[in-house]
Formats: sequence, C-alpha cells, structure tokens
Amino acid sequence: MNKADSERMAGILEKIGYQKAKEELEADLVLYNTCTIRDNAEQKVYSYLGRQAKRKKILPHLKLVVAGCVAQQEGESLLRRVPEIDLVMGPQHANRLESLLNQVENGQQVIATEQSHILEDLTTARRESNICAWVNVIYGCNERCTYCVVPSVRGKEQSRSPQAIRLEIEHLASLGYKEITLLGQNIDAYGRDLPGITKEGRRQNTLTDLLLYIHDIKGIERIRFATSHPRYFTQRLIKTCSELKKVCEHFHIPFQSGDNNILKAMGRGYTIERYKRIVDRIRELIPNASISADVIVAFPGESDSQFQKTLAIIEEIGFDQVNTAAFSPRPNTPAANWRNQLPEKVKIERLKELNLLVEATAKQRNNRYKNAIEEVLIEGFNPKNQEQLMGRTRTNRLTFFPEKGPTGYLYKPGELVSLQINEVRSFSLSGTPLK
Ligand code: SAM
Ligand code: SF4
Repeated sequence: MNKADSERMAGILEKIGYQKAKEELEADLVLYNTCTIRDNAEQKVYSYLGRQAKRKKILPHLKLVVAGCVAQQEGESLLRRVPEIDLVMGPQHANRLESLLNQVENGQQVIATEQSHILEDLTTARRESNICAWVNVIYGCNERCTYCVVPSVRGKEQSRSPQAIRLEIEHLASLGYKEITLLGQNIDAYGRDLPGITKEGRRQNTLTDLLLYIHDIKGIERIRFATSHPRYFTQRLIKTCSELKKVCEHFHIPFQSGDNNILKAMGRGYTIERYKRIVDRIRELIPNASISADVIVAFPGESDSQFQKTLAIIEEIGFDQVNTAAFSPRPNTPAANWRNQLPEKVKIERLKELNLLVEATAKQRNNRYKNAIEEVLIEGFNPKNQEQLMGRTRTNRLTFFPEKGPTGYLYKPGELVSLQINEVRSFSLSGTPLK
C-alpha cells in the first residue's frame, strides 16, 4: 500500500518538474513516505530526518516532506521535534501533493492530516515496474484489531467506484502492463460503502463482483489481490477465483494467532476453525493454490501453550510464506496499554522459533515444484546476475532462469514463459525454459 502511494506521489513530483536525484543527500526535495505499523519502522524515520535537518541548515532551499502513517500519527508534534520540516501529510492526502507543495512555495509550513475524502487519482503514477501494477480499490480500514494502528492513521474505508477502477486498469493495459494487484487493507470490505443491492438481496459491488467486472480487460494476463480478512472471506469469492482464468492461485490471508482466546483479544472476529475451513475450501477447489499469511507472536498475555498452537497451525496448514512479527505496542491502540505485556526476551525467542519453522515449511511446500512445469511472467533481470531473468509463478513464487531458451530464443521482460523447475529453495525457484 505504501509502495503504491509512493509511486503516485513520485508521479506528481515528476509532473511538476522534479527528477529523481542520484542519492538522498543530493536532492533539493526529500519526501519520506513513512510506516508506523511497528515501532522500529517509526524510529527509522527520525534517524533519516535528523540527517536532512542538518543539511537544511546549510541549504535553506531544501524542501523536507514527511508523508504517510508516521506523519498522520504525529502531526504537529513532528514539527516540534524537527522544525526544519516543510510539509507533514497523512496518507489520505497523497493525491494532493501538488497543491500542498504550492502552499510550501508560498512560504508556509503545512500540516495536512485532517480526515479527507480521497480524491480520484488523476495523475500518472511513476510506477517502478512497467509489467506489474498496484491498483488501490479500497482505502482505510473500519476494523478495530486491538494491536493495529492502521485505522487511526489511514482512516475510514473508502471504496473507489468499479468504473474508476476499470478505467485505470484499461489504461494500464494500454501501456502494456500484464499483471495487476488490487489493494486494500481489508480487501474483502470492498464496496461496503458503495450503494447497491441485488434482486436477491445480496450486496452488490463486492470484491467478487469487482473481479467479474474487470476480468475481460484485454492485455491484462494476471489478476491478484491483497489483503484478505478471514472474517469476511466468502465461499462465493473462492468459487469465482477458481473459475476466473486470470485470477492467480495465491491467497494472502493473515491468521495472526493459532489460539482462539488470543484471536478474541485481538478483536479479529473469527476462530481458527473458520480459518481452517477457508483453507480447506480453497484447496478443494484450487488444489495448487499457495497460501501466505501474517502472524504476530508475543501478543500481550500469550502463554507458551498458546504460542505452540500458532506453531502447530503453521505445520498443519503448510504455508508457502508467512510474514512474522513480534507484538509492538502502538500509540492509540488498546493492546498497547494492557498490563500483561511480554518481556523483550520472550518476543525474540518466539520470533526466532517461528521463523525457523516458517522457513522449513516453505521449503517443504516448495518441493511440489520440483520438475513441475510453471508459467512465469517475466518481470526483469536478476539484479545479482544479469544473464538471468526473473519473474513469478502464478502462485507468487519468485523464479530465476536463463535469458536464452534451448532454441536460442532470447526471452524479454513482459513475456510469459513456461519453465521446467529444477532447483527449489525456501523462498525462490530456478528453472529452464521449455522452448
Ligand atoms: N489488514 C491486514 C490484516 O488485517 O491482516 C494487514 C495489516 S498490517 C499493514 C500488516 C501486518 O502487520 C498485520 O497483518 C500484522 O501481522 C502486523 N502488525 C500490525 N500491527 C502490529 C503490531 N502492533 N505489532 C506487530 N505486528 C503488527
Ligand atoms: Fe489493522 Fe485489523 Fe484493519 Fe488489518 S483488518 S488493517 S490488522 S485493523
């Protein structure tokens, strides 16, 4: 989500005449798009800002912008801490960067953190890839997970209209993009704030309806979406994904903890049994699907046996990938104030144990690719070996392979290639082109 916001802001900067500087300490304008999901992400911002504040003392024309979630969380207090900053802007204001910078040009120090209706993005994002693109479909989050800062920094859910989303994807297809990833903090909430009920009394404009609505766009070969919430993930969505050819066989569905009492304390609104039923149904209809998740360890009050249940779920389900984190108390979240916080030492130990298991499970899961034929969308060259191309399987596995096929054909980014997989690691694969 932050990458997508950064690409839109970079696009606005280019439009008004800025160019990318060779390096951070040479730039005339520095914009940090910040993350506050955990404390270590937030602390990095202050160390970066310290360096730029020093530069500004000798280079008064330097413009310093702090965007994103730390900006939203800290607002005016950021200016007190680093008075050299020119502009503090929350994530809902990303599309307003041009007009906010105009105010800065007029000599003002600007804070844009009020709740705001997100304007349709009329600018052209400067996307890092010209093959795969992010497409925001819903901003914000209305959930209240007790550990999470997102609802307070990204605000209430705001869905874009299906027509605006389709137009953006058609535009991407006309530029040659092949893959899109629909984005939302809780993408299953897509459309809750849009009008429309079907004759049968079902809500219209759900994520499933959106997939059906955009599926026929010519030129787009692959469709992905993230992040899914187990509370709202529907059977209809699974069935539709199994029927739509372009929707890739990968689901990112965080489960956070394997223990029902912890899930309750987290305010997640599902049980681990429901989670397992979702996975079973996916595997029933889409046997090859890869499943990834997010997990938090050492949530306040988590006992050793509750932690063991998280490990057991990782083994039982056999995830392809899991993003792991130790609980980090965040400002304005209920769990940060609870008395039953766990010591740092426990956090470190549990995270280490979990990561070892995640790696082993992913490796084991990857064994199913050995000698398999996989379709890969080529995204570019391997930065560590310029004779190799890289891309991802439909199941989202990063895969490396030689540029030249057995017939001498030189493959290019943007093409789909069929590979025979001959090497399997925990988080990536290698293969050779069939033709
Ligand atoms: N909306 C998504 C969801 O509900 O799963 C993801 C939100 S968040 C940007 C990504 C992940 O960060 C979460 O799934 C969670 O595992 C982790 N996270 C969020 N708050 C955290 C905290 N206070 N401490 C540690 N990890 C956290
Ligand atoms: Fe945070 Fe929960 Fe919303 Fe995800 S669903 S962004 S974890 S509050």
